[in-house]
Amino acid sequence: MSEDTTPSRSNFITDIIDEHLENGRFDRVHTRFPPEPNGYLHIGHAKSICLNFGVAEDYGGQTNLRFDDTNPTTEEVEYVESIQEDIRWLGFDWEDRLFFASDYFGQLYNYALQLIQKGKAYVCDLSPDELRTYRGTLTEPGKNSPYRDRSVEENLDLFRRMKAGEFPDGSRTLRAKIDMASPNLNLRDPVLYRILHAEHHRTGDEWCIYPMYDYAHALSDSIEGITHSICTLEFEDHRPLYDWFLDELGVFHSQQIEFARLNLTYTVMSKRRLLQLVREGHVSGWDDPRMPTLSGMRRRGYTPEAIRAFADIIGVSKANSIVDMELLEHVLRDDLNNRARRVMAVVEPLKVIIDNYPDEGEETFEVPYFPWDRENSPTREVPFSKEIFIERSDFMEDPPKKFFRLAPGREVRLMNAYYITCTSVAKDAHGEVTELHCTYDPESRGGMSPDGRKVRGTLHWVSARHALDAELRLYDTLFTQPNPYDVPEGGDFKDNINPDSLQVIREAKLEPSLAEASVGEPFQFMRQGYFTLDSVDTHPGAPVFNRTISLVDSWAKLEAERGK
Ligand code: ATP
Ligand code: MG
Repeated sequence: MSEDTTPSRSNFITDIIDEHLENGRFDRVHTRFPPEPNGYLHIGHAKSICLNFGVAEDYGGQTNLRFDDTNPTTEEVEYVESIQEDIRWLGFDWEDRLFFASDYFGQLYNYALQLIQKGKAYVCDLSPDELRTYRGTLTEPGKNSPYRDRSVEENLDLFRRMKAGEFPDGSRTLRAKIDMASPNLNLRDPVLYRILHAEHHRTGDEWCIYPMYDYAHALSDSIEGITHSICTLEFEDHRPLYDWFLDELGVFHSQQIEFARLNLTYTVMSKRRLLQLVREGHVSGWDDPRMPTLSGMRRRGYTPEAIRAFADIIGVSKANSIVDMELLEHVLRDDLNNRARRVMAVVEPLKVIIDNYPDEGEETFEVPYFPWDRENSPTREVPFSKEIFIERSDFMEDPPKKFFRLAPGREVRLMNAYYITCTSVAKDAHGEVTELHCTYDPESRGGMSPDGRKVRGTLHWVSARHALDAELRLYDTLFTQPNPYDVPEGGDFKDNINPDSLQVIREAKLEPSLAEASVGEPFQFMRQGYFTLDSVDTHPGAPVFNRTISLVDSWAKLEAERGK
């Protein structure tokens, strides 16, 4: 039997890898996911995680988790921990390969000394503002720094003193000596090190110079023996610099490959903007269920399977595009449809009194959680009694022709229970319906027709005496515009925040089995949507459920509108 080595996903990246394996550039595949611990992971990161871990898995290779922690002022341990939790939740495992760029600070410093010795790096005394002016523009070449021709000895001395803390922040930098006239701005003597007297969450005050991203990233990849360093498109112009570092130092040469980042409609994906939403209180935190963060999506009820399936479906490409939120939701519904237990919950309760049912009487129905597979489905006991709640919207006193649910004199089926007929309506002083009186047909037990007579409506319900009181949170998109950055001049993306993105329902009535619900378990509240227990605000005896997503799939409609 021959082993099948064809990757399950094939795309331009696997094409490059195949070529490398064939021409002997590499004999293995080793990728990494390199988050900067300055925020929580979002669905865009999930695309990169699925890609890096997925591709390595397909080739029997390995993936490292490496924190790119070269920016001590914005990084926090909280982020380091949440990032690991989120990747594990997505279903990926870096085994014992958890690394930090800060682990390499010593080695990166030695590499810098080597570049200086080769005459390929120099200490520059230009201020940040001067650096910018000397850099030139896309149309004008830059100017050489007056410090560019310092001797190797002077550079070594100054760089060591930078490290020793002799100079204030911003007073000097270490720069690569490449080409101030290069059409690629990244090659115009980029800064390798800056002075920053800041506490680092791992190295404390050991360092007061910190390496810049491009330098640290290329060399961290090399140190770890990463074969394929997959990153987003905006780093394409940085690749010549990435290659320059590795070539000048003559170290292991990883291949950088760029792909288009994920953008989603109705969503901002920049950590800076997400942090702004958190700090300014537009959301309750990074894990607010409206956030595109993995922790928010998890709390909302997204499953890792749905997110991985979504990443597979969107694939990878070289062209930036914006994916419709409806596609993500479609994939989510697909997944929840298969795994969510069907239960009954009344969102806006209206009491129904069944006059011919015994006052103290009660009975239970054994109801399968997966009604389409009664044979194999687990079941639960659903209690029934004289007083029940139905959905207020399932009753109309004066119904139009097409309304098939409950109305005076009308008979409907209570799902899995009985046929009932509405006999009278009670109202308050404002004419508001307060409760309904009905009779039931004892011969219709289980919701079966006793004599072949048909009813057109089937309602969900909850026994009043047994109901579990719960708070429900219904969500809409966080922004009103498909592109949140689409604002009139002088505006801000926050102008597009949707004021109605959260609707709280405080008096929902749930079937009692939901008292056993656990965090992460998906449910379909029949006819109402998919829900899951909120992991943060639920307290003993006071459950809060998040609506993950409604039942209406707008993706099909969108596709139809596009004439597909
Ligand atoms: P942000 O723009 O949100 O700050 P970032 O790129 O600075 O994101 P990092 O922590 O550096 O955040 O990202 C880690 C990895 O995730 C990088 O390799 C990056 O390319 C990738 N990544 C980030 N955002 C996306 C996205 N929207 N789609 C695909 N990959 C992404
Ligand atoms: Mg980044």
